[in-house]
Amino acid sequence: MEVATRPLIAERILQIEESATLAMAQKSRELQKKGIDIINLSIGEPDFFVPQFIKEAAIRAIEENYSFYPPVAGFPELREAIAKKLLRDNNLVYSPDQIVVSNGAKQAIANAFFAILDPGDEVIIPAPYWVSYTELVKLAGGVPVIINSSIENEFKIFPEQIEEAITSRTRAFIFSSPNNPSGLVYSKEELKEFAQVFAKYPDIYILSDEIYELINFKGKTTSIAEFEEIHKQVIVINGLSKAFAMPGWRIGYSASNPVVAKAIQKVQGQMTSGANTIGQRAAIAALEQDPEASPDLQKMIKAFQERRDYLVQKLIEIEEMIPNHPDGAFYVFPNVELLYGKSLDGFTILNDNDVCMYLLNEAHVALVPGSSFGSPGYIRFSYATSMENLQKAMERIEKALKKLH
Ligand code: PMP
Ligand code: GLU
Repeated sequence: MEVATRPLIAERILQIEESATLAMAQKSRELQKKGIDIINLSIGEPDFFVPQFIKEAAIRAIEENYSFYPPVAGFPELREAIAKKLLRDNNLVYSPDQIVVSNGAKQAIANAFFAILDPGDEVIIPAPYWVSYTELVKLAGGVPVIINSSIENEFKIFPEQIEEAITSRTRAFIFSSPNNPSGLVYSKEELKEFAQVFAKYPDIYILSDEIYELINFKGKTTSIAEFEEIHKQVIVINGLSKAFAMPGWRIGYSASNPVVAKAIQKVQGQMTSGANTIGQRAAIAALEQDPEASPDLQKMIKAFQERRDYLVQKLIEIEEMIPNHPDGAFYVFPNVELLYGKSLDGFTILNDNDVCMYLLNEAHVALVPGSSFGSPGYIRFSYATSMENLQKAMERIEKALKKLH
């Protein structure tokens, strides 16, 4: 019998990591299934239900037989609703044909990388970053170039750092504001400074991931696409998973210059033929409502803010974890290096992975290590869970940490 000499799967796949956020969520589900009472603070998805008027729009879509293939880029009414939303909420002028609706913002980002990256092209990514940015860049043949930040500056990066990271191979820069996992929100002035750098490099794209746009406790989020000098270089990414509590409905979108939008459409036409029709019809209803007049959204933001305040305060009280002060999204990203070297029953904590493993086994609380976000030494708490769960989780964590010596 002949023996295979090649690995069973492609090198491209061997080079990428599994999504750490989804892997931890899966691990929690498996432990829960075994009867272990895990509190899952790993995945970033709102614990709220989809607002009733959005559900009704989906039910109507089923009854009206929206069961056929949609146009690849999305229903014209949805692309129109997105264009209006971008103008109403973000001061951005896009025509519907610049918008492509995808299976979540994740696919919108993947599409964009496939549309703009040639092999070896570099993509600058400030750390901490959302786990999928680096892996999607690699999948599309690109090379992630990481720039670091520090908790002392609330994980902000500065324009000089971007300038220093730019080479002749730089093709794109990707960031999120509000940020996952740090919750950092850039001000308009700070984004203007970034825009001034990119204006000097018209071949560089800026992927502006605005999925947490509406979960901002400081007020309105600015889009970097607002700055006229770089507007054509920006690919705006957004979706309905967070502010509309629709992560399982898988609706996201991109807005970009017409040439890129066409290329994104071409990629998507081969990959998925477009996003699910029921979710798209529901998204029209969701986006037509002004978020400032949405009681569901305002209730959710208030709850997130209370939980943020509680969690940060609690982490300040736990001396071994030093929290940041997030202004948006629903995460806190504390430093945990003071726990290194501590042990229990022969298990010694050496890094952020060990902190998460220890807290999973000893406190039954699921968290995600900072290394997965490019920032070792930190761990991510998602507070997209009830206050009751959060309080219970923090009691368990305090108890587990007291056992260490
Ligand atoms: N960007 C960021 C920063 C995220 O946290 C998420 C969450 N999954 C996404 C994009 C993708 O969201 P989705 O695919 O559910 O729209
Ligand atoms: N974005 C969320 C998170 O960071 C959802 C999971 C994922 O797609 O990564 O936890």
